[in-house]
Amino acid sequence: MHIAIVGAGPSGCYVADALGRKLPGARIDVFDRLPTPFGLVRGGVAPDHQGTKNIARQFERILGKEGVRFLGNIAIGRDLAYAELKEAYDVLVIATGALQDRRLGIPGEDLDAVYGSGRFVAWYNGIPDGRDLDPRLDGKSLAIVGNGNVALDIARLLAKTTEELADSDLCAHARAAFEAAAIEDIWLIGRRGPLEASFTAVELAELGNLSRAAILVDAGQLPPALPGESQDSQGKLVELLRDFAGHGEQREKALRIHFAFNAAPLAIRGEGRARELVLARTRSENGQAIAGGETFSIAADTVISAIGYRSTSFPGLPFDAVRGVVANDRGRVEPGVYTAGWCKRGPQGVVPANRADALAVADLILADLAGREPSAKTGGALIDALLAGRGACRVDLGGWQKINAAEVAAGQGRPREKLVRLEDLLIAAGS
Ligand code: NAP
Repeated sequence: MHIAIVGAGPSGCYVADALGRKLPGARIDVFDRLPTPFGLVRGGVAPDHQGTKNIARQFERILGKEGVRFLGNIAIGRDLAYAELKEAYDVLVIATGALQDRRLGIPGEDLDAVYGSGRFVAWYNGIPDGRDLDPRLDGKSLAIVGNGNVALDIARLLAKTTEELADSDLCAHARAAFEAAAIEDIWLIGRRGPLEASFTAVELAELGNLSRAAILVDAGQLPPALPGESQDSQGKLVELLRDFAGHGEQREKALRIHFAFNAAPLAIRGEGRARELVLARTRSENGQAIAGGETFSIAADTVISAIGYRSTSFPGLPFDAVRGVVANDRGRVEPGVYTAGWCKRGPQGVVPANRADALAVADLILADLAGREPSAKTGGALIDALLAGRGACRVDLGGWQKINAAEVAAGQGRPREKLVRLEDLLIAAGS
């Protein structure tokens, strides 16, 4: 049995593991467009959340199992065609995540100093094609649109001091940019109310521990306290926000993080670059944000929209352009082709949720394969010949381990200093 998985992030690794256990003797090739594996664990998870990143060790063990190969720096649509993968493998699983920022769809979105969170996170996490974003952090006021955990990650990292980032693997270029930043006010903008916020209590509570940042919440925007509210997740959030609202005296700190709820973005204004974010005051009704006609503005020299992501496609892959996901029915794309993770369901859920999803897709594949005769497909042999003919510069697991060793050695007390240029990664990998 020849299996290909496109995407070496959490979903791809979990599918590889589940299929490898149930199909002894299967050959599993895991492709990634980057020379480095682990998807969002390396490129998305906040650099100061090192505990979450420990899961990479488990993924490395999966990629090192007998019968499994990692083929890094191989992009489908560039080095190999989707049709070629279908020809070579009995089973193909697309687990490419969600790489593209959703757009706000408001005037001014294309001004300078306006960034999607995907590009911004890729920049500070050292993804090679995000490295040169060089975001403008030269103004006093920065607005982050969205009330999810990504918005909190960005606010927290911008607000941390150099000392508070000492045990993170935030890349050197981002550390330098954060240190030089002039930001005094960070606005977190939610188009709905605190009861509808997507962020989670543990991540919200982290903001309260920042040494140089005051967290400012207008108590008037919070619902009245209810008995037993801390029992449910949204109640816990409101309780934390109420606690922040009681600490207004901290506003003299060097940096302030303001929560603005029920504020829907209408436009970004400025001469050539962002200077102002125009918002509509909303009220929450049955979970919907209803605008009543009142508008207001905040100063915003930089705007980051953290409102979710879309997946990307490659020629031939059935794609649902409205939802921005691979077109699928519970993971089935077309005969022999499946999808798992964020490109299947949309960008929701942390690693354990994607594990559950990946295991369900693996079960579906096993059910479809039951009783099937072995095919004449040649899997990796055909692919290796195609890649060799095209002069592709492939990084295998040993190559990643060399990159890893070089980065850890360069860390000098930090967890690692990431290599952020493609050439440097390939040289370190010996490719
Ligand atoms: P998210 O949790 O889906 O949050 C997106 C936010 O953007 C929501 O508040 C949403 O508001 C808002 N939004 C969407 N469209 C908007 C628009 N046009 N105008 C204004 N606001 C808009 O997405 P995310 O923060 O990107 O996170 C993605 C996933 O990764 C989540 O499952 C998250 O929990 C996970 N994650 C976890 C961690 C962690 O555990 N530490 C860290 C980062 C990410 P509405 O609700 O009104 O649509």
